[in-house]
Amino acid sequence: MTQHVAIIGLGLIGGSLSLALKRRPDVVITGFDRSYKAADEAYRRGIIDAVAPSAAAAAREADFVIFAVPVAAAVSLLREAPEWGMKESVIVTDTGSTKQPIMQAAAPLLEKGVTFIGGHPMAGSHKSGISAAIGHLFENAYYILTPPPGCSREELDKLETLLGVAQAKLAVLDAEEHDSMTAVVSHFPHIIASSLVNLLADEEERRPFIRRLAAGGFRDLTRIASADPVMWRDITMQNKDELTAQLDRWTAEMQRVRNLLQDSDPAAVEQFFDQAKQFRDQLPTVSRDTAQGALYMPFDLHIDVPDHPGVISEITRILAAHEISLTNIRIVETRTDVYGILVVSFRSANERDTAAHVLGRETDYSMQIL
Ligand code: NAD
Repeated sequence: MTQHVAIIGLGLIGGSLSLALKRRPDVVITGFDRSYKAADEAYRRGIIDAVAPSAAAAAREADFVIFAVPVAAAVSLLREAPEWGMKESVIVTDTGSTKQPIMQAAAPLLEKGVTFIGGHPMAGSHKSGISAAIGHLFENAYYILTPPPGCSREELDKLETLLGVAQAKLAVLDAEEHDSMTAVVSHFPHIIASSLVNLLADEEERRPFIRRLAAGGFRDLTRIASADPVMWRDITMQNKDELTAQLDRWTAEMQRVRNLLQDSDPAAVEQFFDQAKQFRDQLPTVSRDTAQGALYMPFDLHIDVPDHPGVISEITRILAAHEISLTNIRIVETRTDVYGILVVSFRSANERDTAAHVLGRETDYSMQIL
């Protein structure tokens, strides 16, 4: 039986989800985006089957409605949705990075008897928009579902079956648990990364050379500060209670570290680093067989190449000959804390590993996956 899916918001996440869902021959996708350009590109690239003139029109005949718009827009659309005249059997979900405000905004829909199950696919990219959409974005990534109290197992199963084609690791959490955990592992690190970069910008006014020293480890550590500011404004504003609590804990922790340094207590300072190292060394890593975490990290290959002209074109020629696409290539100027001078990023661990294999076969350069 044909499943009609409406996707509202055809950006990175909506487009990628649509590409994944279209692997199922029984799925027909109607899309809507407030940007005509995004909807047009999605249709022309075959990412969706039809364009609707409004969110309500896309949702009206759908069996599943997926909101893949920024979280503030999802809240407003959810408030309007009870008036859309959707099918009684419809299952509505979203992809937003915060869950409690979304679940609250969905309350009137639930009161009308419509099934709403919150969703958060924990995979992404520093790029946004339909042009960055890829069908395998969610493979091996955690995809959290937050059903409201009283949601039936049958409805949850229906949504899980639909999303199964994205090959993500589906997990069910309470919305509050979700927001509290993502505050720690995702939202708060974005604040710290942006704050470190802002400190660097201040320092650069006094010492312009510092920019060059920041090209290696600092750049990698703060990569997430390049994410879309509007999206992160919305996410942090929506999760502000969790985040202000985190900031209080962080401030206390920084005060503790400050005291350790002030007291010149080497054993205590070493213990601070050692405790973090022991815990971090045991965290799961991203590889072909494991899940992506809450923070988007590209799949990087560090290649130790001689610093001479033509080396980048040699690498890109070999990758092109094997039809392996890269998402980013850059030269790292400091070698103090990272391996190799050339860093090539790929969309998946699979592409990165294949690249390492062919480059290992066709060049003498040593390589490392960190
Ligand atoms: P995006 O900017 O790539 O796409 C959002 C799309 O929504 C755009 O095409 C925009 O025109 C459209 N849009 C905005 N307001 C709209 C409205 N009122 N009606 C219709 N369309 C509207 O953003 P994205 O990265 O795809 O993120 C979408 C959602 O997924 C967000 O809620 C975000 O929190 C969540 N998310 C993002 C990531 C990530 O890393 N980018 C990861 C997981 C979840």
